[in-house]
Amino acid sequence: MATLDTKLVDVVGGRTAKALSSGFDMETVADLLRHYPRRMAERGELTDLASLRVDDEVTVLAEVRSAKVIGHRRQAGQRLEVVVGDGKGTLQLTFFRQTWRQKELTPGTLGLFAGKVSVFRNTRQLTHPDYQVVAKDGFEQFEADTFASTLIPVYPATKEMRTWQITNTVALVLDSLDPVADPMPAEVRARHHLVELATALRTVHRPETWEQWHAARKRLKWDEALGVQLALAQRRAAAAANPATPRPGLADGVLAEFDKRLPFELTAGQRSVGDELAAGLARPHPMHRLLQGEVGSGKTVVALRAMLQVVDSGGQAALLAPTEVLAAQHARSIRTLLGDLAQAGQLGGAENGTRVALLTASLPAAARRAALLDAASGAAGIVVGTHALIQQHVSFADLALVVVDEQHRFGVEQRDALRSKAKQPPHLLVMTATPIPRTVAMTVFGDLDTSVLRELPLGRSPISTTVIPVGEKPAWLDRAWKRIREEVDAGRQVFVVCPRIGFGTEVDAELEAQFDDVELPEKRPPLAVNDIFVMLRDGPLHGLRLAMLHGGLVPDEKDRVMGGFVAGDVDVLVATTVVEVGVDVPNATVMVVLDADRFGVSQLHQLRGRIGRGGHPGLCLLVSEAMPGTPSRERLDAVAATTDGFELARHDVEQRREGDVLGSAQSGRRSTLRLLSLLKDEDLIVEARDEAAHLVADDPQLTAHPRLAAQVAALVGDDGAEYLEKA
Ligand code: ADP
Ligand code: MG
Repeated sequence: MATLDTKLVDVVGGRTAKALSSGFDMETVADLLRHYPRRMAERGELTDLASLRVDDEVTVLAEVRSAKVIGHRRQAGQRLEVVVGDGKGTLQLTFFRQTWRQKELTPGTLGLFAGKVSVFRNTRQLTHPDYQVVAKDGFEQFEADTFASTLIPVYPATKEMRTWQITNTVALVLDSLDPVADPMPAEVRARHHLVELATALRTVHRPETWEQWHAARKRLKWDEALGVQLALAQRRAAAAANPATPRPGLADGVLAEFDKRLPFELTAGQRSVGDELAAGLARPHPMHRLLQGEVGSGKTVVALRAMLQVVDSGGQAALLAPTEVLAAQHARSIRTLLGDLAQAGQLGGAENGTRVALLTASLPAAARRAALLDAASGAAGIVVGTHALIQQHVSFADLALVVVDEQHRFGVEQRDALRSKAKQPPHLLVMTATPIPRTVAMTVFGDLDTSVLRELPLGRSPISTTVIPVGEKPAWLDRAWKRIREEVDAGRQVFVVCPRIGFGTEVDAELEAQFDDVELPEKRPPLAVNDIFVMLRDGPLHGLRLAMLHGGLVPDEKDRVMGGFVAGDVDVLVATTVVEVGVDVPNATVMVVLDADRFGVSQLHQLRGRIGRGGHPGLCLLVSEAMPGTPSRERLDAVAATTDGFELARHDVEQRREGDVLGSAQSGRRSTLRLLSLLKDEDLIVEARDEAAHLVADDPQLTAHPRLAAQVAALVGDDGAEYLEKA
């Protein structure tokens, strides 16, 4: 008999164990039983072919009757036509060009074929169906009892381990499995109507009915959700127990003075988030908060007010930006907002003020020494810099608050490095303009509390977005360039964004990685800043003041170009995505994104947030060759259709694999979340989170549920821990 920990080799024999190990990294019985079927195919699905409706998505289990190649090599229309049947009816499959499949789909082969039903010359067919060979010699291959069952599991399989071989191996293992103890507390099971673990493990593989299969999956998803949420709940509990210096601020300090001088009213959202932060900083435990807010929603002011509260309490705040350009801009806008409050110790400085130190790699040595000294002595209440720089070089007199602008490039190593500079764990505020769907936030950033700024400040102008389909309507592009001239004539400024720098530089690797799973037909290389700059300067935008900005420039040059654009000395800025986050030029009203289909939905949304920041309406033009109906085009249409960042974030997540959502750094999670979908199982995740909070509140170590505690410990013990840390 076997337990979940028994080595596979002891149950299924050496050859099979080896194939499972090399194909799927499986070593134990548990590994195999956690290899869930991708779907269930129903025998008899094909029995009434006449009832298959055109446009239905179907999966059929059938035997290949014939396979022949029609047409000649190199000739358009050459195709492989396969006829499959199950004894009661037949269906045609068509593969254009992929005639090599003839070798695989020989007569007698049993397979599962999935696709959309269409009609061609009065015959119902599937064009390019996904298929999986189930057995080479038809229905015979199935063992008697598998054959008798109506639901047939379809597993992720390899050439060495076909799905029916996995079916048979799982059957063998289940038959020799000892009773499995259930780690989930009975009352949790009862509350959510969940079947026992032993039942679930059996019926997820070999259900007799669809109900059984769904019940099994629900239970197993719960295990995944509850495990993660318990781990996060424990972390939150542990973090909340850490001591931190309370920074309650002063009634009549710099913050009060700053508020008096603010040239605008805070929005209701800014006020309520401000209250949350103020309360968090005043507590004797470290605040860990994620602030989400649309581009332009005014996160900087909110963060600055928190920083001033800390300064009023005698501490320092560090503001970390992902790039030098952004760090410099943050320092600039904070100094502007503070005015003489940022000039402590200088002539004309307010007496209760502080200083803002900027630390960038490109700073001249003397200025840098001065900034470092200000940080170390405490003269600078606010220190702004890039992540890297602040971690490496700076020491603080009393670091009280770390604000991170744009979380996704900020991992746990960075957090730890900063923490080591403070006497006690500092309070932490992470800001992001990329909205994160609720359950993703709950899972990926589950140990942070979340605040959201939903409304944009009054006076923000609307942005309209239009797709320019150059494939179908090339003339639209000429009109776009004319439109840009008009804007410039009216005194406004324009961004032109390209996916690539040019001159042999590689495509933005990050950008490329996003589309790993999208099969791009051999496409021309993405448009490059260098080429487009020349093309526009000598062509449609001749006579306007153009400049280039991209990551290949030395920092000085970048600052100079950006400074020129901010000052209005440049009409049109041709740039890569360096303009993505934070760049604030209220006079910029138009953004043209070339090869827009090369960017992700959220990225496009962020990009267009650079315009419409002043009193004039913004116009964003998404130029693309993507044809209607393609996924690329659908992405662009989605961006054009709404300015709701949360809706777009959802869209983004739907289009990508979940592993990518979690990020490559969090790949450990992939092995843990097998069935759970962060989008589709939102309700379940919310319930599991509540359940976890409830269990941990009474009993942080889960001493009453040792098996559950062990399960969570195992999750946190391996890759899970790293994943959780990434928040
Ligand atoms: P983001 O959330 O994108 O970081 P910012 O903080 O940069 O947004 O704010 C964008 C602009 O809006 C800034 O120029 C800022 O001064 C201004 N702003 C912020 N809050 C308000 C408000 N309540 N009323 C008017 N303007 C505001
Ligand atoms: Mg910002």
